[in-house]
Amino acid sequence: MFLISPHKKQFKANLHCHSTFSDGKKTPQELKEMYRKKGYSVLAITDHDVPKNHSYLNDENFLTITGYEGYVRPDPSAKFDVYAPEIHVNFFARQPDNETMICYDPAYCQFMKKEEQAKLVRAGSERPREYTHAYVNEYIQTARDNGYLVAYNHPYWSMEKEEDILAYEGCFSIEMCNYGSYLMSRLEYNGALYDKLLVAGKRIFCHAGDDNHNFFPEDHPRCDSFGAYTMLLAEDFTYEAMIHAMETGEMYSSMGPRFHEVSMEGNRIHIECSEVGSIYVFTGSKRPCRIHAAQGEVLTSADFEIDDRARYVRVSVVDAYGNAADTRGFFRDELEF
Ligand SMILES: [Zn+2]
Ligand SMILES: [Zn+2]
Repeated sequence: MFLISPHKKQFKANLHCHSTFSDGKKTPQELKEMYRKKGYSVLAITDHDVPKNHSYLNDENFLTITGYEGYVRPDPSAKFDVYAPEIHVNFFARQPDNETMICYDPAYCQFMKKEEQAKLVRAGSERPREYTHAYVNEYIQTARDNGYLVAYNHPYWSMEKEEDILAYEGCFSIEMCNYGSYLMSRLEYNGALYDKLLVAGKRIFCHAGDDNHNFFPEDHPRCDSFGAYTMLLAEDFTYEAMIHAMETGEMYSSMGPRFHEVSMEGNRIHIECSEVGSIYVFTGSKRPCRIHAAQGEVLTSADFEIDDRARYVRVSVVDAYGNAADTRGFFRDELEF
């Protein structure tokens, strides 16, 4: 069976992006131009508490995913505190025309004028947002009930505990890398956290996004575009197919390398990828399967035998610059071994 099928097309996506509709510096049109030129086919413009359909930008080779980034902070006035934890989630609309605001709270609507807020389609409780597990779970469930897929954003930046993330239900995927945060700290590559969630039995996929705000130009070392992306696998290039790829985990996260194929036959796994220095298969054990290229050489494939105590299987490849690509975790009941 294929974990990454060579028979599907791969569509490069940035699933986390800010525009002039919130605190980003680029207009949606400028973002489309930038990303299209770099080979992207999909862009989710996810402004802070600004649900927006940008499908006026779509053409036969470029799709925008409707959605936004929602958040909950401990302070009821939503005041930002660099030392306090908070939760950010991306809402991706199953239907492009869905601009529903989930759990409207004016304290969080800082980027929308009062007149625009008055026109919002709203769903869910409108009491002030509460930074509690119960409230966050209600927030996520309300979004799901109103046509959104919900992703968990930048776990390192958010400073939440692992137990908090485990307590949240209903997120389909977590950011393996959030490039904006990675540029700040180098620590927002979340391979270790992702394994801990999988070992705990959490059924969650992984993806990556830039979370770009574009305060710096493209040739600047602090440019936050084009550092982390998601490859969506599908046969057709339609909105529906992109959403389907996301919700069924037909995708992988990358900061550079590409997967061409990952397949399993019995307990044997076969991996084909772009040129890398190391290939790992994590299974929840202390000893991942791994192979490293000899000095001055590269790897483009690997084969391993997975031991019969493997809790799950996930593949990670790392190129000469230290940039990784990661598949999601596949649990044993999804695999035929
Ligand atoms: Zn965020
Ligand atoms: Zn963001």
